[in-house]
Amino acid sequence: MSKQISSERKTAFYLGGILMVIGGISFLSVFVTGIMNFGDFSNFEGQARSSMARAFGGMILLIIGGIVRGVGARGLAGSGVLLDPEQARDELEPYSRMAGGMVKDALDEVDLNFGSAAAEKVIMIRCRACGKLNEEDSKFCQECGKGI
Ligand SMILES: [Zn+2]
Repeated sequence: MSKQISSERKTAFYLGGILMVIGGISFLSVFVTGIMNFGDFSNFEGQARSSMARAFGGMILLIIGGIVRGVGARGLAGSGVLLDPEQARDELEPYSRMAGGMVKDALDEVDLNFGSAAAEKVIMIRCRACGKLNEEDSKFCQECGKGI
């Protein structure tokens, strides 16, 4: 049982990201060349065909990149490609641990604040003369009246 995301999945995640970027650029370039060639109809058919190819190619790359990225991030079962809850749980384990860690951090933060507030209240000073516990900021013992 792996506790970390495998290197294959990391590679797929970044590869998917790269595919999405290429697809996005290809898709956007259609608009850029469309604006640059605006009013120039000398090779309209060729431009239209190239634009169509880039728009479709870009979209397909975006979709494939998104799928590859999702599979890389969550694993085959974790992303729903394979119906295997047991494997999905294993593959999503790093995320579960991340969520658990974040909850723990939040609780630690709350606990720390409560803890310091509570600690302030319970600090008492023992009188050296009679042993009575007095408030931290008291100058004289409540019991015997000697200076603290
Ligand atoms: Zn005392």
